[in-house]
Amino acid sequence: MSVFRIDCGYQNYDWGKIGSSSAVAQYAAASNASTKIDESKPYAELWMGTHPSVPSVAVDVAEGKSTLRELIGASPEKYLHQSIIDKFGSSKELPFLFKVLSIEKVLSIQAHPDKQLAAQLHKQAPQHYPDDNHKPEMAIAVTDFEGFCGFKPLQELAVTLQTIPELNEIIGAETVEEFVSQIKPEAEIGSSDDVANRKLIQKVFGKLMNTDESVIQAKAKSLVERTSSDPELFKKIDSRLPSLIQRLNKQFPDDIGLFCGCLLLNHVDLKVGEAMFLQAKDPHAYISGDIIECMAASDNVVRAGFTPKFKDVENLVDMLTYSYESVEKQKMPLLPFAKAHGQAAKSVLYNPPIAEFAVLQTIFDKANAVQQHDSFDGPSIVICTNGTGNIKVDGSDIKKVETGYVYFVAPGVPIELESTSDDFTTYRAFVEADI
Ligand SMILES: [Zn+2]
Repeated sequence: MSVFRIDCGYQNYDWGKIGSSSAVAQYAAASNASTKIDESKPYAELWMGTHPSVPSVAVDVAEGKSTLRELIGASPEKYLHQSIIDKFGSSKELPFLFKVLSIEKVLSIQAHPDKQLAAQLHKQAPQHYPDDNHKPEMAIAVTDFEGFCGFKPLQELAVTLQTIPELNEIIGAETVEEFVSQIKPEAEIGSSDDVANRKLIQKVFGKLMNTDESVIQAKAKSLVERTSSDPELFKKIDSRLPSLIQRLNKQFPDDIGLFCGCLLLNHVDLKVGEAMFLQAKDPHAYISGDIIECMAASDNVVRAGFTPKFKDVENLVDMLTYSYESVEKQKMPLLPFAKAHGQAAKSVLYNPPIAEFAVLQTIFDKANAVQQHDSFDGPSIVICTNGTGNIKVDGSDIKKVETGYVYFVAPGVPIELESTSDDFTTYRAFVEADI
């Protein structure tokens, strides 16, 4: 069989949305009718793929239960394609892991190493860095979403450092003065001025991250009080800041993330369908909302704040790119895709600058419309996030799709998506050796 349903497992991390308010819980229950949603539990992540800790189970393919991982391992040319095996080196696993995240509380501020640094960190400290792969991630908003992504533009950082007394005191008047007087906001990327700008951000960030915990806690208390006593001060920088700081302080009281996240990083709002790609070595965190996430198969995370877990401050301060682009530049372009055509109201390709994955969104605005996907040269996974429809294989084999259903599509198989409701919406993660 070349197109079949998979039953996807989930993770109850404590930052997840609770009970049936979570898209993850809704999709997991649709995916497997025996899943009973516990209204007191968080449902954080739905995992679609071959990761050994939560492998998806193929439905109605073999007698008994077979995981997608086992099926692929038994027939890698059929399910992965030789070009994918050659390029990514595994005949058991998909190069990507596809997820849905339902976020109630902020996740840790983090960055991921590139391939070269991942190999080095894994060798030095395998207890903290479990594999030698990079972990590029892409997030597409399924509901309104907010997150942190990359350092703020230089001018905004300068104003923030000068305006917020607690941050100014942690960084120190001398370093703030050096930053404000020496930044060159007009520098071209890659120029010597740009390199110097990044060094200035690194100095500020390094000072913050190396400040004593007791000092951070005292300054954080004062900072939070100031959001009530003088909210206008914060609104000079960003009108959302006072409430953001108060909200995240309830989740992680007196945490360093209030400074490194709320004050130094871009606060990104994504509307439904907007996406951001998280470059290697760029700091980021998810704050709230439901997203579709696609990532390369890896678990390498270096953390900075909003976490009780290990923070590798030395490697973190050393590794970041310190790029300082605006929020708009952090968002991904929405592209057309020649292999998708037909009557769908929207067909959008999200194609990050890495080889492991791309995601194709298809949205219908009427029932009984059809969208063709030509055959892809690699494996793919389709999830329905809204409405109902069918997947037709060979024009005749009709597979029913409901919200939360997930299908695996083998390489080389053209499919048709057919809407049976006026809001049928799918996301298809795929990899091709040459896209
Ligand atoms: Zn991440």
